Amino acid sequence: MRKGIAVSPGVAVGRAYCIHEIFLSPEGEGLAEEDVRGELARYEEAVEKTALDLEALHHKVATQVGKEEAKIFLAHASILHDPNFTSKVREFIVGEKQSAPAALHHVLGEYTSLFARTKDEYLKERLADVRDVIIRLSGHLTDVLQPGAEDIEGPLILIVEELLPSQVVMLGDLQVAGIVTQTGGQTSHAAILARSRGIPAVSGVPNILKHVTNGDLVVVDGREGHVLVNPAAEVESAYRKLQREFVDLKDKLAENRDVPAESSCGQALELMANVNNLQDARAAVAMGATGIGLFRTEYLFLTHPDVPDEEEQLAAYRDIIAAMPDGRVTIRTLDLGGDKTIPYLGHSREANPFMGWRSIRLSFEHPEFFATQIRAVLRAAAPEKGCRKQVRLMFPMITTLDEMRRVRSMVRRARGDLAAQGKPYGDVDIGLMLEVPAAAISIECLLKVVDFVSIGSNDLVQYLMAADRDNPKVSHLCQPLSPPVLRVLTDVIAACHRAGKSVTLCGEMAGGPRAFVLLFGMGLRSFSMSPAFIPTIKELARRLSAPRAEAALHRALQFSTTGQVKRFMSRQLEEIAPNLRMLDTA
Ligand code: PEP
Ligand code: MG
Repeated sequence: MRKGIAVSPGVAVGRAYCIHEIFLSPEGEGLAEEDVRGELARYEEAVEKTALDLEALHHKVATQVGKEEAKIFLAHASILHDPNFTSKVREFIVGEKQSAPAALHHVLGEYTSLFARTKDEYLKERLADVRDVIIRLSGHLTDVLQPGAEDIEGPLILIVEELLPSQVVMLGDLQVAGIVTQTGGQTSHAAILARSRGIPAVSGVPNILKHVTNGDLVVVDGREGHVLVNPAAEVESAYRKLQREFVDLKDKLAENRDVPAESSCGQALELMANVNNLQDARAAVAMGATGIGLFRTEYLFLTHPDVPDEEEQLAAYRDIIAAMPDGRVTIRTLDLGGDKTIPYLGHSREANPFMGWRSIRLSFEHPEFFATQIRAVLRAAAPEKGCRKQVRLMFPMITTLDEMRRVRSMVRRARGDLAAQGKPYGDVDIGLMLEVPAAAISIECLLKVVDFVSIGSNDLVQYLMAADRDNPKVSHLCQPLSPPVLRVLTDVIAACHRAGKSVTLCGEMAGGPRAFVLLFGMGLRSFSMSPAFIPTIKELARRLSAPRAEAALHRALQFSTTGQVKRFMSRQLEEIAPNLRMLDTA
């Protein structure tokens, strides 16, 4: 048995599908002599298509973002046509009689070991560029997934280094039952994506790709963080039974979609969803979400072939608003950097990406780009006949009052521009995501300039604990149930109530049953979570009263260790809703 971090609850049993490098399938048969020439031609064709992609990207980014930012694509084009690079690929195809993707894989390997020896940061970054070019080239040469997924029977367990957002989109219709990643933690984006689809997942399992091959039978226990490879028959059948229970429970809970969200003492709750795209929004409605509490707009950019312009953004935002029965959608502006980057924003390697040039900080550096997004949101909020709308605009990672003031003045300017252009726009509430401890400490002062607050506990916890949420070596410290985190949350929620401002929590902890009880005890009534958790939390809420939750919180705040809080809350949960145990993570 291998141990990792339990990131998405439930149990799955299936056949391993290993993605070493999503873009390559290097273990080819080798080419027959007469096919070599054809393979070279195929490579040339891929080069031409890639060159066209890069040209289009350069043009679009130059006009929409800036000439400086677009330069990266010129650099990529010169790698693509670099004689040394090209001859390495061609020589491998001809000399080794291997396919073009295999040649690219080989050349990437050569460059990687070459660059590994250099201490020069600039050169190291060039490796990322070579890699990017190779990914684009490979996209024109192969199906995105390695052939073979269709040969593996039954539900798949994906085994990957780290699941990138763009890969998730490419997985398309594959029947994925479980996910195991080598890196990442509780709140890494792979984990969030797995949770949003209700797929059991375990992250941070060291070297798992070395120990599993395609077609192996794998068990993913997303409650305990265990992964079993080719277990004994009786172990397998015990887990299959658990898997059936998990699926049955989920199906049963999903039936409560039209039941009102309220506590056993009749307090109304707002259970909203975190989504990345329209598909998620539809899933959220199916799960009974009353709105979208967090639309992570960066996925629109990450999965777009180039840059979504104002009209494209407007269409995407409108679609999501229209998908929600009351048009209740909170749109978060771009939150890139950290673990999510796009090349045209000129992101460079940083020693501490999560403490560096990310999120709102990056948006401020690209004011035109940022203003385009704000305009698109304001336009999407414009009143339309027969379409209810309650659109809120939310800014991530706000640290200081000055930043919030700057944001507000950008929104004012965007309104002025739209009015001058005669384009209709709507009224939106403006809010901040509370993710930085400094903002939590100065919340009273920030509350004066916002209409609402949404607590981004994923980041808030990592910054409070000074532990990178994606680094499995330290992510065990990122515990939302730790006493310091609970204290900060209690204070922030109380401050919002005193100021009469709306407060929501949209971090992953909102969907954790034990955490939910405590947040409810803090007086929080608005939550946004992965859609898959809404039925569970609704069921829990219906068994919970405010006095019981307050008493649990009161006791929990007296503990001094996370272990004590967790054990106490597990016992509480056992009493309040024993049937939900399976849907909590360790
Ligand atoms: C958070 O930080 O809690 C959050 C919801 O934002 P993200 O996970 O996208 O950083
Ligand atoms: Mg965040």
